[in-house]
Amino acid sequence: MTLFRATVVDTPSNPFTGGRLRSDDDCGLLVQLGVITARGPFETLRRVHPDEPVLDLREGMLLPGMVDTHVHFPQVRIIGGLGLPLLDWLDQCALPEEMRLADVDHARGVARDFVAGLVDAGTTTALVFGAHYAGAVDAMFDAADQSGLRVTTGLVTSDRLLPEPLLTTPDRARAESRELADRWHGKGRLRYAVTPRFSLSASDDLLEACAQTLAEVPGSVFTSHVNENLHEIREVARLFGGSAYVDTYDRHGLLTPRAVLAHDVHPSDPELRTLAARGAAVAHCPTSNAALGSGLFPLRRHVDAGVRVSLGSDVGAGTGFCLFKEGLQAYFVQQLLGEAGLPLTSAHLLWLSTAAGADALGLGEEVGVLSVGRQFDAIWVLPEPGDPLAVGLANASSTDEALSKVFALGTTSDIAGVWVGGEQIAAGHWRRPGRP
Ligand SMILES: [Zn+2]
Repeated sequence: MTLFRATVVDTPSNPFTGGRLRSDDDCGLLVQLGVITARGPFETLRRVHPDEPVLDLREGMLLPGMVDTHVHFPQVRIIGGLGLPLLDWLDQCALPEEMRLADVDHARGVARDFVAGLVDAGTTTALVFGAHYAGAVDAMFDAADQSGLRVTTGLVTSDRLLPEPLLTTPDRARAESRELADRWHGKGRLRYAVTPRFSLSASDDLLEACAQTLAEVPGSVFTSHVNENLHEIREVARLFGGSAYVDTYDRHGLLTPRAVLAHDVHPSDPELRTLAARGAAVAHCPTSNAALGSGLFPLRRHVDAGVRVSLGSDVGAGTGFCLFKEGLQAYFVQQLLGEAGLPLTSAHLLWLSTAAGADALGLGEEVGVLSVGRQFDAIWVLPEPGDPLAVGLANASSTDEALSKVFALGTTSDIAGVWVGGEQIAAGHWRRPGRP
C-alpha cells in the first residue's frame, strides 16, 4: 500500500453536460494493489493509515494518466512530415515507412521508440493503430506488454488501393487477426482492436470479415478513420455507390459503443445521428487536422448530436505524443471557428484527454479519473524551477487557471512521474519523484 499526497485534479463528470473540474489540495490517495481504495484530505487518511509509506508529490499537480484514442505505432519515426494533404502524405511519408515494418526486427525497434514516446508523454492508455504485418503487430503487443501500458491494438487491414505489399485478403485478414487476438487479447492490460485502415482501402468483403472478427473476439474494439479529407470523402462515395462514409462501416454492423472513428472533420447531419444512435465515439485529432490541412473539427455539432468525442494525437500526421498540445490545439480550433466553435475551458481539455478517452475505449469504470475503485493511472506534472510553467503555476489564482497553464505551456518534459495500475513506469528521460 502507498499513500500518495498531492494536489489532485480530475474530471469525474462531463463538462460538456454541466460537470466541473474536481480539485483537492493536499489530497490523500491510498493505493492498494494498483487500485485507489481511499481518497480524502491527507491528514484524515494519515490518521487511519499511520504506518503506510507516503509519496509526497505536493510540489506539482497529479492528473489522471492521459488517454490517446488514435495514434499510429508505425509512424513514430516520420513525425514532422509537413506540407502535404492527406492522400499525398500517405503516399509520400506514411506508406513507404509502413512497408518497412515487413521486417520484424525493424518493427521491434519502431515499437520500442513508440512505447517510449507514449510513456514520455504521460499517456497511460492508448488505442493504437497497428501495422499491416502480423509480425509487426506482435512486436507492438510485446513492447506494450513489457512497458505496462494499457494498449488496445490490432492488425491493420486493406485489400485495395494501397501499395501491393500492404494488401491482404478478407480470409487472411480474419485468420491473422484471430491468431493475434488469441495470443494477446485479455493478456495483462492488452486488448485487440479490429482495424481496417479506412473504407477507401477496404472492400465490402474485407469490412464483413472485420465484422466477423469483432464478433469472434468478445470485448474487442473497432477502430478506423472517417471523414478526414474532402477528396478522400468523394473517393469513398464513388467506391461505395454514393454512400455516406459512416454508412460504409455501419452497414456491416461495425459501429457500436466499442467503436472509435478518427477525425470526422466533415460529417453530414445524418452521419452524426448514426454515430450517436450507435454510441460510437469520435477521436478528434487536432494537430493532425491542422498539419494536413484537413479542416476545423465541428465539435459543437458532435456534442449537440450526442456523439461521444475523445482526443487522439494521430502520430505521425499529428505533431507529437503530448496530449497537452492536442488539447491546446483543440482549443485553438474552436476559437478559429468563431460562432460555430465551442469555447473550451481547462476542464473540457482535461476531460477530453483523460475520462472521455477512457469512456470511448470502454474503460470508463477502470481509468480516466482518480476516484475510489479506479486503477491508479496517474501523471505528476512538475516543471523545472524557473520554467514559465513553474512561474505560471506559482502565480495561478485558481486550479482552473493553473490547469489552463498546463495545457498552454506544458510539454512532455514537465511530466515527472507516470504510474499505471499503481506501478511507476519509466522510459525516456522523465524524473523520478522525490528529487530534491
Ligand atoms: Zn490516423
